[in-house]
Amino acid sequence: MAKYDYDLFVIGAGSGGVRGARMAAATGARVGIAEEYRYGGTCVIRGCIPKKLLVYASHFHEDFEDAAGFGWEVPEAGFDWARLIASKDREIARLEGVYRRLLDNAGVEMHDGRAVMVDPHTVEVGGRRMTAGIILIATGGHPFIPDHPGIEHAITSNEAFHLSELPRRVMVAGGGYIAVEFAGIFNGLGAEVTQVYRGPRVLRGFDEDIRARVDAEMAKKGVAFKYNTVIDHVARRADGVLEVALTDGATLEVDCLMLAIGRRPNTAGLGLEEAGVALGEKGAVAVDAYSRTSRENIYAVGDVTDRINLTPVALAEAMAFVDTVFKGVPRAMNHETVASAVFSQPPVATVGLTEDEARARLDRIEIYRSSFRPLKHTLSGRDEKAMMKLVVDARTRRILGAHMVGPDAAEIIQGVAIAVKMGATKEDFDATVGIHPTAAEEFVTMREPVPEPEKQAAE
Ligand code: FAD
Repeated sequence: MAKYDYDLFVIGAGSGGVRGARMAAATGARVGIAEEYRYGGTCVIRGCIPKKLLVYASHFHEDFEDAAGFGWEVPEAGFDWARLIASKDREIARLEGVYRRLLDNAGVEMHDGRAVMVDPHTVEVGGRRMTAGIILIATGGHPFIPDHPGIEHAITSNEAFHLSELPRRVMVAGGGYIAVEFAGIFNGLGAEVTQVYRGPRVLRGFDEDIRARVDAEMAKKGVAFKYNTVIDHVARRADGVLEVALTDGATLEVDCLMLAIGRRPNTAGLGLEEAGVALGEKGAVAVDAYSRTSRENIYAVGDVTDRINLTPVALAEAMAFVDTVFKGVPRAMNHETVASAVFSQPPVATVGLTEDEARARLDRIEIYRSSFRPLKHTLSGRDEKAMMKLVVDARTRRILGAHMVGPDAAEIIQGVAIAVKMGATKEDFDATVGIHPTAAEEFVTMREPVPEPEKQAAE
């Protein structure tokens, strides 16, 4: 008789957990999984997917405007938030069903409820104890909520997906990708949006040229930025209006305050201590390159480990875990050169080093930059510019980073990321014939580097 009920028990059926469970089951392992909320996890239920559906929805108003430049007469368009949310909810419910079926077809046994580790080989779900040879922690993260008076009146991205109506005035607090994306969503759907951020500009960590362009384009579209300030306290008036006092002394009246000021790993009340699993400095589950925790038979992947908190990374970590533990092919996940996107308006996508990162590491780099009005906007009349940028190692000629702001940035950078990951040089890019007329061809037609800052200063 088998020593344990399962070969593998997975806690959390999000991106990493579902992938790990399915792939392990495919090797013949007996696998159980627990989910306390909905199958699919953050990305499917209240992250990437519903977010992108709302981004699509919010873009139509510009599309209607742009159509006029192409000869269309568009009658005044109306928008129904409740209908959008209902359609989105139907799609998310369908996807949740798909995830359940995938697990079922793979032979993974599902346990609906919160899992807690009792010891290194025992998990309890809804009063039932189960044992497993290996445990995979894939519990994800949650929005951080600061401790300000009245903060209970604020929502996070979790609730933003379920508002009963579109607020007229929204304050989005935060400067990261989720804050920027929701500012664009609410703005595009017709709300008055103020984005409040403690730093001098949104999207910290992204290339400075990209940050400047996103800030400028979002401002043109109507998002009001309040920088270098944070929330001090919030009060709700009898008429429901929120008065949000900021540390710079200003008080803004809004109908909705959305916090997007960071996320924290889901580690509380999980029985980590009982199981002998140590946390790292920032409160995430500490893992080695193979996603193994301080406890030999317990692994962790995805946001709960706070490495790169993106769905494709959680999936890749889960697959490396399965290779290592169930296929006998130890494989560390490579976290270098991971491409990512911000579905802001206009969107951003990036792979590799920013200009500042490259300057800090190398003494000689070249920067190639192209800023242009997309062809579509020559007729639409829209005052929006796209920008592409390449960061090149001047010695090896390798492309260290590729960055873009503009329509279809994510679709374009995904392809560029393959070349960058493979170690392509600037000359490889130059030797590639472009596809015309596209925005993407700029990446293979930029010939003159931007003058170096010292040279510019000397001129
Ligand atoms: P999750 O997907 O969060 O899954 C964890 C699961 O574990 C959850 O279902 C949770 O209910 C469950 N759980 C937690 N504790 C327990 C327990 N004790 N017992 C049982 N179940 C438990 N990433 C992208 O790549 N692209 C995007 O465009 C993007 N957009 C995003 C937008 C938003 C608004 C947010 C919040 C995130 C977004 N992300 C995006 C990030 C992405 O969603 C996460 O990186 C990804 O979901 C991480 O997967 P995971 O498996 O680590 O955890």
